[in-house]
Amino acid sequence: MSQKTAVITGVSGQDASYLADLLLEKGYKVVGTLRRTSDAERQNISHLKGKIIFEYADLIDSSSIEYVINKYKPDEVYNLAAQSVPADSWSHPFYTGEVTALGVVRVLEAIRKFSPQTRFYQGSSREIFGGVEQEIMNEQTPFLANNPYGIAKLYGHLMMRNYRESFGMFACAGILFNHESPRRGLHFVSRKITTAVACIKLGIQNPPLDESGKPLVRDGKVHLGNLDAKRDWGYSKEYVDAMWRMLQQEKPQDYIIATNTLYSIKDLCRVAFEHVGLNWEEHVVSDDEFKRPTEITASRGDYSLAKKNLGWEPKVSFEELVKIMVDADLERLSPKSN
Ligand code: NAP
Repeated sequence: MSQKTAVITGVSGQDASYLADLLLEKGYKVVGTLRRTSDAERQNISHLKGKIIFEYADLIDSSSIEYVINKYKPDEVYNLAAQSVPADSWSHPFYTGEVTALGVVRVLEAIRKFSPQTRFYQGSSREIFGGVEQEIMNEQTPFLANNPYGIAKLYGHLMMRNYRESFGMFACAGILFNHESPRRGLHFVSRKITTAVACIKLGIQNPPLDESGKPLVRDGKVHLGNLDAKRDWGYSKEYVDAMWRMLQQEKPQDYIIATNTLYSIKDLCRVAFEHVGLNWEEHVVSDDEFKRPTEITASRGDYSLAKKNLGWEPKVSFEELVKIMVDADLERLSPKSN
């Protein structure tokens, strides 16, 4: 069988870098797109140098995407690039719309024009269900996105479907619930917590800055938003396998990818701090600055369709995931590894 080629947009991101690892293991030729502004030394992709092809492409710039699709005419495209931070989307609604909504159409159009046989995966999000009052969500749950990020993702999701229906493209989406890992960006609450745990445990004097530009740990405390918010949290490294499986099916179909469990941010704090022998209540502050203007509902994802059709199910538990992340941050920040 000839070698398959895959293009992954946003390869410096958490999921894309794990997906690149997976596709390399499977023998693919992998092309990963970066923004010109991306720092190619970033930890998520430093190990990929020399193993994958890097190309510059920005989801705002159609010509840069068309160039990559036309050059490689890939078997598969995984669109994982996005303005992916829901909390930032209220302050950057236009940019979020340009990248996270219209960016999807730019990739779809490039495929339609230059490589219509390419199979397309869209990184959709549970945020497209927003405020639906439903404890367990599945592929039939109605869309009720309630923040600019979720609304942009919903536009991308519906346009992907429209290209599937209008042009017969092999296009599908994973509707992923939250997923984390040691490669998660520091703007996200899970990684803020595990990095703060490592900084406090190791007595780091110059912690990284949080999204407000202040030190992540101040007076021995990390500042978070709503501690009672609940999420269905899985492990990114496992979720990228589901993406690949979706593109190997006979017919394109959208799937919920989740763990069907629910934990609060307090739970995450407790597990993370206890893992290093600390009491989370002494080190965590709930700060209005980090609260969302509107919250999504506390819902978990029913992944039974993915289990049935794709043979996919999550294996790493919530507690194991948090410990993996704390251990990785301890290792990364410990003086001997610097
Ligand atoms: P991530 O780590 O934040 O990665 C996002 C990537 O997009 C980065 O490589 C970033 O590049 C790139 N990017 C941002 N703006 C861009 C632009 N204008 N043009 C091209 N690239 C751009 O995201 P993730 O957590 O891996 O998530 C992957 C995808 O799944 C995203 O679309 C996200 O919205 C979606 N999703 C994530 C979750 C989750 O819980 N992680 C859940 C559901 C859906 P730079 O490095 O240059 O910033």
